[in-house]
Order: sequence, then structure tokens, then C-alpha cells
Amino acid sequence: MNVGEGSAAPPQPGESGDELIAEAVRRLRAGAVVAFPTETVYGLGADAESESGVAAIYRIKRRPRGHPLIVHVPDRAGADYWAEIGPRAAALIAAFWPGPLTLVLARRSGVSSLACGTEITVGLRCPSHPVARKLLAAFVAAGGHGIAAPSANLFGRVSPTSVEHVVDDLGADTPLLLEGGDSEHGVESTIVDLSRGFPALLRPGSISAAQIEAVLEEPLEGPGAAAPRVAGALAAHYATATALELVAPQRLAQRVAQCRQRGERIAVWSRLRPEAAAGASWEPAPADPVAYARRLYATLRRLDAQALERILVEEPPAEPEWAAVRDRLGRAQAGAGTHLSRSGSAGT
Ligand code: AMP
Ligand code: MG
Repeated sequence: MNVGEGSAAPPQPGESGDELIAEAVRRLRAGAVVAFPTETVYGLGADAESESGVAAIYRIKRRPRGHPLIVHVPDRAGADYWAEIGPRAAALIAAFWPGPLTLVLARRSGVSSLACGTEITVGLRCPSHPVARKLLAAFVAAGGHGIAAPSANLFGRVSPTSVEHVVDDLGADTPLLLEGGDSEHGVESTIVDLSRGFPALLRPGSISAAQIEAVLEEPLEGPGAAAPRVAGALAAHYATATALELVAPQRLAQRVAQCRQRGERIAVWSRLRPEAAAGASWEPAPADPVAYARRLYATLRRLDAQALERILVEEPPAEPEWAAVRDRLGRAQAGAGTHLSRSGSAGT
């Protein structure tokens, strides 16, 4: 599937994947945006060195200009262009690239800062999704150095993990959209900041803090050690329009009963269906954090579309492997109900 953009003739159905990639590269190099799949979520990409491309990302997403964008590169050599790779970064790159790990590094002087907001750093990631890899390889072969790409959704909202989510969010602004199936991980990349002389975890993701620490052979500082300069670090982010409440497992039955007594239209997302939820919308929650993460945003979007008054989510376990899911659900709860729409004013 592809959706054509504005004046440029959209590629016709039947065109091969390679032709679509070539068209996407032409558009990127001409300063336009394209949407593409990654193993984490779908991205809205622009040439990181193109003023009009980067501006289009901020405009379409309604993202405040100060929030930097992750620059995607095809490999370690691609990262060398943007930043000096020290021993910590080299070790993490060797261990986890291509994959869902973003490194925040001191930016080389002289390289473009267009994608970096107000930061003196650059955020670099090398995605593993085959379509993203093809796109990056062709883009670099055409003279590019990096594709700046945040998630292809409106700022503050739940990230897209399928082409349908991208179209639902971006509507008429949907650019050429490369298809790549449902996202494998379903939550955004782990972000590690190496720009401060000590390694800090800025955002949990499917590569865990323990995995990073094992490679670095030193502890990671928590996000508190670093300034909250990640859009996804805002307390309210990844939000549903419907009120969302995280409820401890032992309180769930009682909370469901309360809401039902008040006649609220609710959905319950929990491992077991509480008796009081009979007749209410119920979603079985995966017991495995990987499966839960993969389904997280699609489930939130589906429940959000049901015209409910409240979504009750059973708190996932406190174990470290649930860190990314807990982080996203906590922010969804904080932002829920601050309705962002294409016509409304941008919130968080
Ligand atoms: P998102 O695009 O929402 O997945 O967020 C990725 C995050 O990576 C952004 O919110 C950025 O704050 C962070 N990031 C990207 N580039 C930089 C940078 N140059 N310095 C610090 N953080 C960055
Ligand atoms: Mg995002």
C-alpha cells in the first residue's frame, strides 16, 4: 500500500518494492517526507540535512521545534559521520545495531543540527526492519547521511504500529507510505545518553537496562540523572483520548464494580476477566512482556475508538522486563483525556 502526496505523482499499484524505495529516496532528497516501517513503530522520515523536510515533520506531527528527532543511519560508518564514536558507543553499536537502541552522542562540529532541536547532541539509531534498511542503504547511496524520523503520529498520541494507524493519525497529510507489516517490538527504542561522561537511560525500550549494563560493564543512571529532553519523557505522552486508569491487580475487581455501578461504559484490560466486568468490554492481557509491548498501542487505539468513558488497565508486574510497558502505560494514564485531534489544538 502506498499513499501519494500532494503534487508529485504517486507511485502506481504494481510497482515493485525497489521502485517504491527509489521514489521514497527521490522525495527525501527533494526535501519531502515519507513514512516507513521500523521494528519499533512506523516513522515519519525526512532527510536530516534538509530544512524543508525537517520542517515538514514538525508541521505534520505538530511537534514543538525544540524536541529533537532521532537520526537513522544504515550502520556504524553512518554514525561516524554525525558523532565521534567512543568506546562505550562502539560497544553498544557492536552489540545491538541494527536494532531498537538509540544513542545520544556529542554531535560533530560542522554537521547539520536541523534534526537536533536545541541540543548540542545527536540521537542516532540503526533500525533492523528490512524495509528501513533498504531505504537507508538507497538513501546513503544517493548522497544522504541520515533520515530524521520520529514516530508517524500526532505529537503526544499513541505511536503507530501498522500502516492503518499512520493513515488514521495523519489523514490527508499522510505521505508516501512504505508498507512493512505490524511492528515487531511495538514500543519505541531504548534511548541511552552517552554525551555526559556517564551512561544514562533516557527511555526504556525492548533492549533492557540490564542488557546495556552487561555490555558496558557499568551501571546506567536513571532518566533522573539527565535533563528530561525526550518528547517521550514528558509525563503525559502516548495518550488515549479516553480516560485511562492503571489499577493494581488486587484492586481491579472493586474498581470495575464501582465504575459499573455508576453506569460508566468501560473497557478492562487484564490478565483475567474480573467477574464484575461481565458485559463490559474486556481485553485479555498477554502474560509475556514482549507480546504485551507488541500489542500495546494497537490495543489502546482499538479501545480508544469504542466511545468508552474509561479504560481500566491492570498494572503490569514490577519486574524489569516490564519497564518499557510500564513506562508507556504510565505516560498514557497521565495524558489520557487531553484530547488531541487534527482539528483541535495540540496538547502535550
Ligand atoms: P521519538 O521521536 O518520539 O521516538 O523520540 C525520540 C527521542 O530521542 C526524542 O524525543 C528526542 O528527545 C531523543 N533525541 C533525539 N535526538 C536527540 C538529541 N540530539 N539529543 C537528545 N535527545 C535526543
Ligand atoms: Mg513519538
